This record gives sequence, C-alpha cells and structure tokens, in this order.
Amino acid sequence: MNIYNNRNKVLLIYTGGTIGMVQDESGALQPFAMERIYDALPLLQRTNYTIDSCQLDKIIDSSNMTPEFWVDIASIIEKNYDDYDGFLVLHGTDTMAYTASALSFMFKNLSKPIVLTGSQLPLGMLRSDGRENIICALEIASAQQVLIPEVTIFFENKLYRGNRSTKVSAENFNAFESYNYPSLAKAGIKISYRTHLFQPKPTGKLVVRKKFDRRIAVLKLFPGITPAVVRAIVETPDLQGLVIETFGSGNAPTESWFIEALEEALNRGIIVLNVTQCKAGAVQMRQYQASCDMDRIGVIGGSDITIEAAVTKMMYLLGNFPDDKKKIRDRLCKNLRGEITQEIVEEYDEF
Ligand code: ASP
Repeated sequence: MNIYNNRNKVLLIYTGGTIGMVQDESGALQPFAMERIYDALPLLQRTNYTIDSCQLDKIIDSSNMTPEFWVDIASIIEKNYDDYDGFLVLHGTDTMAYTASALSFMFKNLSKPIVLTGSQLPLGMLRSDGRENIICALEIASAQQVLIPEVTIFFENKLYRGNRSTKVSAENFNAFESYNYPSLAKAGIKISYRTHLFQPKPTGKLVVRKKFDRRIAVLKLFPGITPAVVRAIVETPDLQGLVIETFGSGNAPTESWFIEALEEALNRGIIVLNVTQCKAGAVQMRQYQASCDMDRIGVIGGSDITIEAAVTKMMYLLGNFPDDKKKIRDRLCKNLRGEITQEIVEEYDEF
C-alpha cells in the first residue's frame, strides 16, 4: 500500500453504522470488511495519502454506543498517534455527535485531525452518500497544508467542530448542523478551510483521559411535567450529575415543588447543569425571572453548549476529577475544547 514514503498516512477506524454496509448476493445488507476499502473505492489508490484500516472488536449500530466504546476508539488512536498524520472514524450517524464530543474532551492537546463521518445510505448502495463523505473526510484527515487540531465531523459538504454538532435529519444527506459555531470547512470543487475558526495548535504534550462517570441523567422539561416525573429522575439512586433541558434562554417552571426538588438534589451533592432545548442560542441565567431561582440555588448555566457536549462533558469531568466537585462545577461553564463560546483560559489547563 505504501508506494511513496512522503505520503501522509491516515488510520481509518471502523466502528459500525450504516456506512459500512454492503449488499450481499441476496441483496441483504451486511458489514463490509474495511481492509477492502480499496476494492470498494478503487479511486483511493490514486490519492496522495496512504490508508490503513482497523475496526472495533465489536461492530455496532451507534445506538448501542457506550463510554466503553469511546475508550476503545480513543485507545486505538492513542496507540497509533505517532504513526499517522490523521484519523478517520467511520461511525453510525445516530450518536456520532456524542462520540465526537466525548473524544474532544478525552484528547487534551490534540495536534492531529480526528475526523468522524458516516452516511445515510450504505456504502454498498448505488446512491450512497458514503463515498463522498469518506473521500472528503480522508482528504481532510490527510491534508498536508492545513492541519486541523480538532475532533470534527464531516458530512455532506461541511466540516463541523465535533462538540458543536447535532444530528438534525433522519433522512437528508445533510444530516448534521452546528448552530452555535460556523463550519470549519466547506467542500465544493475544492475544500475551503476557515483556518481562523480552528482551535489553536497546542504546545503541550498529548494527554488522553479515559474515564467517564455514567451516573448522570437528562431531564427534558415540557409544559405539564409532573412532580412525580421530576422526582423520579432527580432521586435516581447514586445520581452524580443532572443536565436539565430547559426552555428558551434557560427557563423552567417557577413552581415551588420544582425548585425544591432541584435544591434537594443540589444539597445531596448532585451537579446540575442548565442547557437550552433551543438548537441555537445560549442559556442566560437571570435574563428572565424563570431562571432566577435556579441560579440562586446553584444550578450552573451551560451557555450555548449542545446537549451532546453537555452529557459527555459532565461524564468526563465526573469520571476524571471525582474528588473536586467545586472545580467540576466551575469547569462545566468554562470552555475546555471549543464547546462553548468563550475564550479558552490557560489556567484551566489541567482539564
Ligand atoms: N442506526 C445507524 C447508526 O447510527 C444509523 C446510521 O448509521 O446512520 O449506527
């Protein structure tokens, strides 16, 4: 495979999902052996980069994704970090934004591109969007002139910061969006990079943290939610963190039963983060009276973080810094990897 010594090298990691499916003789869809990527996409042999491929021990529909798989993906990248110029993760679309967010927190001081992509139609189908997605994502992961020191998602024709992305369509080829941060690149006749939007290239050594605490919950509010539902969630045994999906700029019912339930949770040491249900915009605590009580009792405002980034950041911070709840509370509303709109502050370096 390695014809030229100076070719950039990409490691393709196949985790499962629609993209890896091909039709067998009977027409049934089955996972494709990614080491045969050159058979499926012969044009790749004429590119100026080299691809090696591997896959997770267990290939999954990404609806079965868990932190254990995030650790497996991160471990493969960490083990091969010095031998490759970039990494391409083929992943089901359903939870791709969660994996991209989780990886972004796990890799501190990342200086090489980790690009995730997938497809809405299997690679083995005539109209598959997978070919375009893989080819563009490979070009981005192997680019010699432009280096993106970030975990990103490439889909349809855009490259998004991973921890800003959300799956927005179960049907369209442009299945992802990043509402609160512009796309990092756009693929047309050529790929146009918006380098000024990239995370700065780090100077420190790579650190990969692999712990996640799954003892968290998401409470999505809706008009008419009952005390019994709220209590069932906040009183989950051993709960450590709670993400509340609130209305608009971070608003919630002002009824006393609701605030009391949250206050009791906070008193038990549960960390509570307020994230808006809106796709775009940010939580602004105290903009309305409907968030003042939450602010008063110690609920943390999540700014413009996505729910995917909020969930994974909460698991990551609780998992890796379990003894310092005060710091976790503080870091949850700080920008660690470009996931919220706020300048990165160096003193948060250890996270
Ligand atoms: N259910 C699939 C998955 O996320 C859908 C896809 O790959 O697009 O694994």
